[in-house]
Amino acid sequence: MSLSFGREYLAIPGPSVIPDKVLQAMHQPSPNIYEGPFAETINSIKRDLKQVAGTSGNVALYAANGHGVWDAALSNMAANGEEILVLATGQFALHWSELAKSQGLNIQILSFGNRATINTAKVWNSLKNDKGQNIKAILVPHVDTATSVRNDIMALRCILDELGHPAILCADIIASLGTDAVKLDEWGIDVAVAACQKGLMTPAGIGILFFNKKAEEARDALGQINAHWDWRIRASSDQIYPSFFGTPPTQQVFGLRAALDMLLREEGLETALRRHKVLAEVIWSAIDKWSHPDGIRMTVLDPAIRSHGVTSVEAVNGGGIKLQKWVTEHMGLTLGRGLGMAGPSDPECRDFFRIGHMGHVNGHMVLGILGAIDTGLKALNIPHGGGALAAATSAIADFTKSQTPTSI
Ligand SMILES: *Cc1c(COP(=O)(O)O)cnc(C)c1O
Repeated sequence: MSLSFGREYLAIPGPSVIPDKVLQAMHQPSPNIYEGPFAETINSIKRDLKQVAGTSGNVALYAANGHGVWDAALSNMAANGEEILVLATGQFALHWSELAKSQGLNIQILSFGNRATINTAKVWNSLKNDKGQNIKAILVPHVDTATSVRNDIMALRCILDELGHPAILCADIIASLGTDAVKLDEWGIDVAVAACQKGLMTPAGIGILFFNKKAEEARDALGQINAHWDWRIRASSDQIYPSFFGTPPTQQVFGLRAALDMLLREEGLETALRRHKVLAEVIWSAIDKWSHPDGIRMTVLDPAIRSHGVTSVEAVNGGGIKLQKWVTEHMGLTLGRGLGMAGPSDPECRDFFRIGHMGHVNGHMVLGILGAIDTGLKALNIPHGGGALAAATSAIADFTKSQTPTSI
């Protein structure tokens, strides 16, 4: 027998845990899509999404997953044969660049490996060498979900401004929206790609594109593009049908409405971001204690460039895949697979796994993940240091003590 029978826990970096309130909000018949209050439901979601992303610009919605809005963003930024610069800190930007290639775009990739952030000097050089300023857009992940590296996007805006380069700065904020601080306007991001199934706690199906005035003008200069991906009608209309260019994913809209209420009104955005940071630090404190040269360790060494919603972990000698199987079989916990972290000798990324801790996650859930991993390390005889769970519980206790005490 195993101890997995009970509530299963999918602790992967998306789809994330769906709150009961979101599930319940979705459990209702489809609304009238010709007229009535559903238009305001959609419009209120657009307003709230802009608040979460820190922008007063435009937002367009799509019945699509993240790959769909990757495509949508490209279609609105560049035409066949035009040049795009891709800054890769992991698998996700590379997948995005494949999609761009399939659209006939001319791709230049700067890759910074799987454990480091963007080298701004290299970006500076690439843009400076672009004498004709032919690069139309820069694609960059804010958080790369495969490596769990978080990049400083504002630093890229500074480079573009200093060089007077007109490229559109386009960030993938799919893994960071609602999880890490995202400030589109302050950071000078022209276009941002998001989706609802990560920090926004809703089943996959709503893709989100943010774009500012500059991006809007660049889009207008392109002339005719694929009408389905065109962000203009979706962003400008307050009517139901044009907002999703067809039938809206009605139940997802209800779910996202409930999730945004939780995020912005129940908990508050700042508090939610703080919760993510504290819980991420709790996870890292445990991994630091486990750390062992023949066992398990963090892949991203500098905490300042780590995502607060996903953590990539290395466990050598196939420890990554063994642990994933063990915690599923014995604990009812699913961890994320390693993605693109290893070379050709390990195409399955057997030496890696990821912990998803984005969205609807609290202290006992994180301790459950850490307890299950700690148990697996023991059961599988994977070399590791001791004191990880004590470090995690102390980190939480210390955090609560640092808060204003509540009277009983
Ligand atoms: C999840 C994710 C995607 C892909 O989203 P899908 O909905 O699976 O298409 C793209 N980029 C980042 C950073 C992600 O985390």
